[in-house]
Amino acid sequence: MNQDDRCPFCEIAQEPAHQRIVSQNNYAFLIRDGNPISAGHSLIIPKRHIGSFFKTSEGEKHCILELLEQAKIQLDREFQPATYNIGINDGPAAGQTVPHMHIHVVPRYEDDEQESKGGMRCVVPTTVD
Ligand code: 5GP
Ligand code: ZN
Repeated sequence: MNQDDRCPFCEIAQEPAHQRIVSQNNYAFLIRDGNPISAGHSLIIPKRHIGSFFKTSEGEKHCILELLEQAKIQLDREFQPATYNIGINDGPAAGQTVPHMHIHVVPRYEDDEQESKGGMRCVVPTTVD
């Protein structure tokens, strides 16, 4: 994404009744990822354009965690995953492509990968044992 591009998450945030929003509270909203890596892959996004989790206010942290709890309830009901990977690509060096902070909530299913060992450690494949 170039600096000149419009932020796709701000475009959603600026429209409170946007059809992509699954749920929302004062400072954050939940959408399904546009290019999901598993069924139900969702994103929790602060309404304010900030690049990093470490720039979130206490209020934003509270709202983000509230949506994380809600997302699990909704996704458990709709998709019945075995469990979840929950993660942030916090900055370009960590793989962030949309420069508006977001938490990935990735439902995981039994046997959805031949080798799930390592989980989050696989983000740097060359270091996985
Ligand atoms: P990142 O690589 O920054 O951690 O993740 C960006 C995520 O945003 C990707 O999973 C990508 O599929 C998703 N994404 C990018 N643009 C859009 C969009 O316009 N709408 C939605 N719903 N997801 C998007
Ligand atoms: Zn933004």
